[in-house]
Amino acid sequence: MYSKPASTLTLSLLENYSSAAQWYSPIHWTMLAASFATLQSQMSSCTTPSFEALPKRATANLRSLRAGIQLHCQALTHGLNAHLFVGTTLVSMYGECGCIRSARKVFDEMHEPNVVAWNAVITAFFRVGNVKGAREMFDLMPFRDLTSWNVMLAGHVKERELELARKMFMEMPVKDDVSWSTIIVGFAHNGYFDEAFGFFRKLQRDGTRPNEVSLTGVLSACGQAGAFEFGKILHGFIEKAGLIWIISVNNALLDAYSKCGNLSMARLVFERMPEKKSIVSWTSMMVGLAMHGHGEEAIRLFHEMERSETRPDGITFISLLYACSHAGLIEQGCEYFNKMRDVYNIKPAIEHYGCMVDLYGRAGQLQKAYEFVFQMPIPPNDIIWRTLLGACSIHGNVKLAEKVKERLSELDPNNSSDHVLLSNIYAVAGKWKDVAAVRRSMTDQRIKKTPGWSMIEVDKVMYTFMAGPKQDKIMEEAYEMLKDIILRLRVEGGYVPEIGSVLHDIDEEEKEDSVSTHSEKLAVAFGIARLCEGKTIRIVKNLRICRDCHVVMKLISQVYKLEIVVRDRSRFHSFRNGSCSCEDYW
Ligand code: ZN
Ligand code: ZN
Repeated sequence: MYSKPASTLTLSLLENYSSAAQWYSPIHWTMLAASFATLQSQMSSCTTPSFEALPKRATANLRSLRAGIQLHCQALTHGLNAHLFVGTTLVSMYGECGCIRSARKVFDEMHEPNVVAWNAVITAFFRVGNVKGAREMFDLMPFRDLTSWNVMLAGHVKERELELARKMFMEMPVKDDVSWSTIIVGFAHNGYFDEAFGFFRKLQRDGTRPNEVSLTGVLSACGQAGAFEFGKILHGFIEKAGLIWIISVNNALLDAYSKCGNLSMARLVFERMPEKKSIVSWTSMMVGLAMHGHGEEAIRLFHEMERSETRPDGITFISLLYACSHAGLIEQGCEYFNKMRDVYNIKPAIEHYGCMVDLYGRAGQLQKAYEFVFQMPIPPNDIIWRTLLGACSIHGNVKLAEKVKERLSELDPNNSSDHVLLSNIYAVAGKWKDVAAVRRSMTDQRIKKTPGWSMIEVDKVMYTFMAGPKQDKIMEEAYEMLKDIILRLRVEGGYVPEIGSVLHDIDEEEKEDSVSTHSEKLAVAFGIARLCEGKTIRIVKNLRICRDCHVVMKLISQVYKLEIVVRDRSRFHSFRNGSCSCEDYW
């Protein structure tokens, strides 16, 4: 990791070095310019942009660019700018600094640029987001090797030009494991899981041995999409290919199982891990346990980790505090929060404060949570206030909810979920006039609700459902099945739809059936229609599950005698025999 004093020192050294009037060999110049390029790339990648950091970064860019220009001048004086290595590193240096015109100029002055120089100038174009320019250079290249193709591919992926990336990938005369991993991870990271799976299957057919990056990329797609069956196939493949000893692959596998809602498989992977478990392994397992409502087990694991002399980091503490708040363990939560600061010397970040607000809020200590926010040494962000609003919703505290919503309106006025949450609080309290007022203000401010979707895997194919009109045959099938289910639930389970959650679907006008067609209900109905009996139904939902859907899932698990696992935006719900693992507390 880049540290500021060291870089300042390097910069001033280099400045002195380059202003000294002495002759350097081409290799010296290359080394100098390369160190600028590395420095620059470290500077631009190490910090997450924030308002405080921006001016600092700008200064850093200017400083090293200035030194870089000095270096370039010196190279010119000595007639070395067209030298292959010096020129290439100057191109990279200007590229890293975002000065594409200078990069191009240096490149044009080079006598016989080799493939490395061409790749450097293409990378420079991508660095400033100029895809067209990069493509033009690529088309001009008199010779292309695999690296050039991979540079173009990676550039398209970085710019999220996925269709262009796909086209480029198809055009490639030869592909290596880097090309495959770039395309798979590119699609997976941008949420196109099916495409990622498709490319992985092609890779296997192609006979290429997948590398660590492809495997972790495709496993992460499995976890995000909740594709349990595909995850199992991958697991088998990893075992057979003898790749099970790689710790990062194990971590990805564990994470995928846990996100797919199969905690026992996640545990199995964790217990069978071959070498010393990394901090990522421990933390992933703790997150999995906490998300499934096994807070106390997560805490036990934390102590085991401490005994194994693995040092926890900030993320470990986030999962630990999350575990405490979801298990209602206030005292332990406070204890760990202090331990993090005092014993492990980890400065609490905004996420840790958020966990503490959640800890108090969930347990019903709303006033304490509210006071805690005012005592925080860093200004609370919208997420902190939203956590508190969520707690107000769980405990039906209308007064505090209004105060909190005011703060949220200052920070993030157009967030639809805040409006929906507040109106749901009003609806539960029977304050229909206020519900109408929130609705009106949403319409006036043209605030659109995030559309809800749910995914289910049937026969290794992912199906996505959205509420709304019946778009196709699949939707029609789900609707028909859902009608039958609701009827059966009314007769056998005494189900009455809960209108308090109507606002969940505010976009869909005031249809009578707006609650009854939430995407998770459709996905479950489709699962019941298509999956064989006795199979667990696994659903991934992008928003928080509403009360009515929660009731329906519980009743289905009882009436149909099956298990349903729903991963919503914040946690897992395992429905069995008419009750849920969250104990109606989410
Ligand atoms: Zn719902
Ligand atoms: Zn639940």
